[in-house]
Amino acid sequence: MLKNDMLDQWDRETFFHPSTHLAQHARGESPTRVISGGQGSHIVDRDGNRFLDAFAGLYCVNVGYGRTEIAEAIAEQARELAYYHAYVGHGTEASIRLAKMILDRAPKGMSKVYFGLSGSDANETNIKLIWYYNNILGRPEKKKIISRWRGYHGSGLMTGSLTGLELFHRKFDLPLTQVVHTEAPYYYRRRDADMGEQAFTAHLAAELEALIEREGADTIAAFIGEPVLGTGGIVPPPAGYWQAIQAVLDRHDILLVADEVVTGFGRLGSMFGSDHYGMKPDLITIAKGLTSAYAPLSGSIVGERMWKVLEQGTDENGPIGHGWTYSAHPIGAAAGVANLKLIDDLDLIGNAAQVGAELNAQMRAALGNHANVGEIRGEGMLCAVELVEDRDNRVFFDPSRKIGPAISAAMADRGVIARAMPQGDIIGYAPPFCMTRQEAETVVSATVDAIKQVL
Ligand code: PLP
Repeated sequence: MLKNDMLDQWDRETFFHPSTHLAQHARGESPTRVISGGQGSHIVDRDGNRFLDAFAGLYCVNVGYGRTEIAEAIAEQARELAYYHAYVGHGTEASIRLAKMILDRAPKGMSKVYFGLSGSDANETNIKLIWYYNNILGRPEKKKIISRWRGYHGSGLMTGSLTGLELFHRKFDLPLTQVVHTEAPYYYRRRDADMGEQAFTAHLAAELEALIEREGADTIAAFIGEPVLGTGGIVPPPAGYWQAIQAVLDRHDILLVADEVVTGFGRLGSMFGSDHYGMKPDLITIAKGLTSAYAPLSGSIVGERMWKVLEQGTDENGPIGHGWTYSAHPIGAAAGVANLKLIDDLDLIGNAAQVGAELNAQMRAALGNHANVGEIRGEGMLCAVELVEDRDNRVFFDPSRKIGPAISAAMADRGVIARAMPQGDIIGYAPPFCMTRQEAETVVSATVDAIKQVL
């Protein structure tokens, strides 16, 4: 084993970390955190410190750490056949079985699964398929994609553009053209005294329709949204939101992409967020929970109306010119099969629904009246605590005070990981589905103590 100080040195000298303040890290002002193990809802660092991971990595280790069933499925696949590609009709038993398992669980009207590696590349695939679709239908002008401010759809050129968070655009010359943003469905931030939740939903639908009319419906191809805004602040939609949005999209022949990278496979206490909220997507993006991050794998689930046109397109133009070397990688597929089976066998979605409701209820009971807690919100195994300077007047903290990161750090000192969301002073919780009621209590008490310490 490498000595800790050697690891620190190599890390600073060689490792380009994503989403990190590079200069501070190089100067040694932010710690190198080396995580060495995990079991259930806990991770362990190299010094033997144990943390209750209330964010499941990056809301992805849904079945929890240390699942030997998945590790063994991966090892067996690697021994038998580590790799073969999926081009021109090739497959492996694992990839074919996984596609079937996904379709068996997907909302009605979905037809096929295209496999990728990450949520970002799956969304890049989605946008290319949407453009292809409209070209085949003879409407080359219908290409713009609408996404929401505060939406998160990845870090690629197009997906980073769709992402509606300033940090992901800063100094990157994003967003690209063909992307149009609309208002976030964030009632707590937006509400004013005379606008109820239903009225807010009606306002958002009217804003969307006005945007479509301004741009011209014949230029708008699709709308992309997460069933619950995730990285933008863990914000469940206001009442009736998806029905109202769907009606606008249907009126203008605009496709819907449900980005279920976070919500797919049980995070909301139901298999898919699309079913949870009655969305009728043409494409569903899946990643994280597909393998619980035991191996990188993502997918685009393609709905029937698009599939027919894609087939027609290849009859007219030959094979579809889009593929990754690692599409449907057998090891990822084996992990996916074992993961989905485990979720069923242990009824982990049932546990997520139950413990998630407990976590939200306990958080409200402990902090609902706190002078610096503006809102506690959640759905299924997602929860967020939004901190404010003045609750009654909804005055937000100056971002330079970095209240969210300070609270998240104070929680880590108490052995609990929760995420300071990247925009606003919001503490986010997305625990593994196997979290117990007692562990949820620990998360709540660490939050209460950390807030007491920082504010
Ligand atoms: N879409 C959503 C909703 C996400 O939350 C994420 C990542 O957090 C992505 C897409 C991008 O996935 P990846 O980081 O695997 O590229």
